Amino acid sequence: MSKNIEGKIVAITGASSGIGAETAKLLASKGAIVAIGARRRQRLDAIVAEIDRAGGRGKAYTVDVVKRVDVANFIEGTVKDFGRIDVLVNNAGVMPVAALSECRIDEWDRMIDVNIRGVLHGIAAALPVFQRQKSGQFVNLSSVLGFKVFAPGGTVYSATKFAIRAISDGLRVEAGDGIRVASIEPGIVDSELKHNTTGAAKDMVMGFYRQAIPAESVARAIAYAIEQPADVDISEIVVRSTGQP
Ligand code: NDP
Repeated sequence: MSKNIEGKIVAITGASSGIGAETAKLLASKGAIVAIGARRRQRLDAIVAEIDRAGGRGKAYTVDVVKRVDVANFIEGTVKDFGRIDVLVNNAGVMPVAALSECRIDEWDRMIDVNIRGVLHGIAAALPVFQRQKSGQFVNLSSVLGFKVFAPGGTVYSATKFAIRAISDGLRVEAGDGIRVASIEPGIVDSELKHNTTGAAKDMVMGFYRQAIPAESVARAIAYAIEQPADVDISEIVVRSTGQP
């Protein structure tokens, strides 16, 4: 248990695998009640069952973050089920890697939709709740690629992660009293993200992932940001594998 996590209601998008799933399990083990959202409902149900067996509390919600109404229902549902919401972890993301010259416009659109629009949908749904409560915390998943463009191959992905840092910075200024905003910037993390890449860049991506750290390492960084006292805003955390440039 952790004093500043115990009893908190934490909503997490993209919690059916990787960083989101590990964050849900870690926070639940520290006493948070976790509301987990993603599209793969069976995965979410299995994670809730695992949390249950370990003595924690969680609930699954089917959410496609690209759909504004799904995200609004997720946040409204969480408030209805648990009375309030203390933290929204905007974690859902996709990373299909390909050179710009391949013009994979559908993949560009999907990255923009999930990685940027999805986060904005989360902000639109949770900000009014946080402002009403006069407290709340956004934890937004950017990346080390939100500082440095990974090219060739990751230009559009990097653009979406630069955007998350920009949105987090602006949100921190605009959100109002009592609302904290953390941008988490992981390096290479072992998860299902690497499987988004098909085609010429696949081998390169798989090569990079040999240096991956476990998703649980990022979950610990997220927990650190959440467990600070209310007057401490951990604005950014960069967490990468030792030796990753
Ligand atoms: P995973 O692929 O394991 O997890 C991604 C999650 O996003 C899944 O739960 C998936 O669930 C969800 N998701 C994808 N599209 C949607 C959608 N339209 N609506 C709702 N949920 C969606 O990858 P990670 O855990 O690694 O990724 C988590 C975050 O961390 C991402 O934002 C990623 O960009 C970021 N990150 C990851 C790094 C890495 O090396 N792994 C490094 C830096 C940042 P489902 O398919 O069930 O909907």
